Amino acid sequence: MSSELVIVYHRQPYEEVEEDGKIVLKENKSPNGIVPTLKSFFGSVDHGAWIAWKLADDPNNPEFEQKIEISDAYGDYTVSRLPLTSKQVSEFYHVTSKEAFWPILHSFKEQYNYDPVDWANFRDVNRRFAEAAAAEAAQGALVWVHDYNLWLVPGYLREMRPDVRIAFFHHTPFPAADMFNVLPWRKEIVRSLLACDDVGFHIPRFAANFVSVARSLFEVDVIEREKVPEKWITEGTALTERSVPTRLAFEDREVSVSYTPLGVDVRFIEERAESDEAATSVEEIRRDLGDAKLILSVGRTDYTKGGVQQLESFERVLEANPDLIGKIRLMHVSVAANRNMTAYREIQNEIEQIAGRINGRFGTLEWQPIALISRAIPFVELVAYYQAADVAWITPLADGMNLVCKEFIASRLDGDGVLVLSEFAGAAVELGDAVITNPFSHKAMDHAILAALSMPEEARRDRMRRLREAVTTNDVRCWGPGRLSIERSLSPVAAE
Ligand code: UDP
Repeated sequence: MSSELVIVYHRQPYEEVEEDGKIVLKENKSPNGIVPTLKSFFGSVDHGAWIAWKLADDPNNPEFEQKIEISDAYGDYTVSRLPLTSKQVSEFYHVTSKEAFWPILHSFKEQYNYDPVDWANFRDVNRRFAEAAAAEAAQGALVWVHDYNLWLVPGYLREMRPDVRIAFFHHTPFPAADMFNVLPWRKEIVRSLLACDDVGFHIPRFAANFVSVARSLFEVDVIEREKVPEKWITEGTALTERSVPTRLAFEDREVSVSYTPLGVDVRFIEERAESDEAATSVEEIRRDLGDAKLILSVGRTDYTKGGVQQLESFERVLEANPDLIGKIRLMHVSVAANRNMTAYREIQNEIEQIAGRINGRFGTLEWQPIALISRAIPFVELVAYYQAADVAWITPLADGMNLVCKEFIASRLDGDGVLVLSEFAGAAVELGDAVITNPFSHKAMDHAILAALSMPEEARRDRMRRLREAVTTNDVRCWGPGRLSIERSLSPVAAE
């Protein structure tokens, strides 16, 4: 089959669930997750393709279906699944991507683990992704590759199919050269990225970092620069940039560099927020809280999300402000990640320990300062918590974008609520009207949450109005494959 749009994303575009002894395909749970957003692009082409991996400990098993054809509300597309063994998945994903790349991308050198990396396996998996994409792409098709675990795909694909247009999007931060170049495979990775037509990032700073990394390794000329929109240049916010190189020349090719901050589906979230179901839940949550103010923190359990630093700040704030005892509650949603990975197990244990200590120190029979939740909350329920919260406290140490803070804003049809946001979340570039804080500073963290809790209503509403404007203007529909155009007629909402 020949597809005009090939999406290369390591996960499959649906979940496989066993029902009555049969495997059935189910939509992924989070409507704002990247999967429905990517699938919505299939609505604009006659036929699309999606390349992912699927666990297959015996790849020769005749029951393994390498390709399946899907026809759903998003469009018609082929899903081509690479059979990978558990060992290959573990080496490619859990070791190379999560233990070596992830810490460097988020500037955590001390978490970086180089020794166990099996580079030959990483190359092999990436080459197979490129082969599968090459097999599906029509002449001149757009192949859109996602994220660092597929860094080598563009290089291989360019050799196999010089005719296709290749876009690459980074969903994570991209660090400066002195951090990125810690990776011993830096030249191979960057050479592959330079084989793209467009290399995309969430925000200007990450794009600028990529260009400086590329220029530190190769002779790359900047042939175009662009001024960053004035509204994104907020004094004192760490991740802003004034101008960014947007077109590069490398060897015999030109490559564009783009920044397209991912937004949320505002209409979809507002519909949820307007529902009777949400109103009933909000009422229940508020009734349970009584007079206490609700601080909401939501994220995955990952050292980059700053959960430990946040809980420690909460403890200091309670210690220094005994008048707040019984008056505030923190709902800390820290969705447990893969417990087989040491780094995640450690952080999960640490979070459970600190939360337990705080509840032990300050709690009473009637009041517990922290409700720690380690399971994922279904999105519809989450919207009710977003609406019921007085403060959303989102303070990652590093984050490519952070959609939770945008979802919180989109849910606030009442125009109230305060967002406290780390300046190291990509979203801080667009959301300068939040209470911006630095999660590495105790003073800044404690001050920000106290300021949020005591903010007068007029100031809260004024900030929220501007935040809602920013989130609505850059809705998920504005996002796409950088400077490579693709028409899009279908939105994630329409596909519901
Ligand atoms: N999410 C959810 N239930 C939870 C916690 C998170 O549905 O209990 C969703 C949340 O609504 C958001 C996504 O998970 O859409 C997290 O995205 P984000 O960009 O904030 O962080 P990431 O996990 O991608 O780093």
